[in-house]
Amino acid sequence: MHSIREERKPVFNAELIEKAARFRGVDEDPTRNLSACPALVLNADYTPLSYYPLSLWPWQTAIKAVFLDRVDIVASYEREVHSPSLDMKIPSVIALRQYVKQSEFPAFTRFNVFLRDRFQCQYCGSHEHLTFDHVIPRRMGGRTTWENIITACAPCNMKKGGRTPRQAGMPVHQAPIRPTSWQLQQHGRLFPPNYLHETWRDWLYWDIELEA
Ligand SMILES: [Zn+2]
Repeated sequence: MHSIREERKPVFNAELIEKAARFRGVDEDPTRNLSACPALVLNADYTPLSYYPLSLWPWQTAIKAVFLDRVDIVASYEREVHSPSLDMKIPSVIALRQYVKQSEFPAFTRFNVFLRDRFQCQYCGSHEHLTFDHVIPRRMGGRTTWENIITACAPCNMKKGGRTPRQAGMPVHQAPIRPTSWQLQQHGRLFPPNYLHETWRDWLYWDIELEA
């Protein structure tokens, strides 16, 4: 009984985790609503700073950065802002002038484990009721590391209990590894937000379109 309780972890809904990672809900967050004219932020090499969550700035931040000479405007919305001294179209895509170097390895967080595993139970493939599982149970010395933690749905987590995948007859879909930031970004591209401005598409999917 004790070991089963030890293996049980709180159930997290992938959507809730995603929301938490973005800090705010759609209504309060101007970057999550296309009518609020957020700017897609590209690094100096014209790749998005982040795919997931997509790197977006509120239009006020984007315009401020333009005036501080920190970014170049790549594309704009039709909408304009007016002030006594200028009329200006709101930027829809901006590129940083100074390249921001990404760290090679991402932090070991719940969100990043989900992203590595594409928000999918590594035992049955479910996207529902996601939580985490120690592949080698803790009571057998399994550690809480990239290499021993996988995304699992709550039913699989319960079913497996304090056993190894072999003992439980539940093979792991993909052996867990410590991903690089690049690998996580690649996975992030699989989850585009459901609002995309037309001027963003060139910067998000150009390689896919070339293949088509
Ligand atoms: Zn499952």
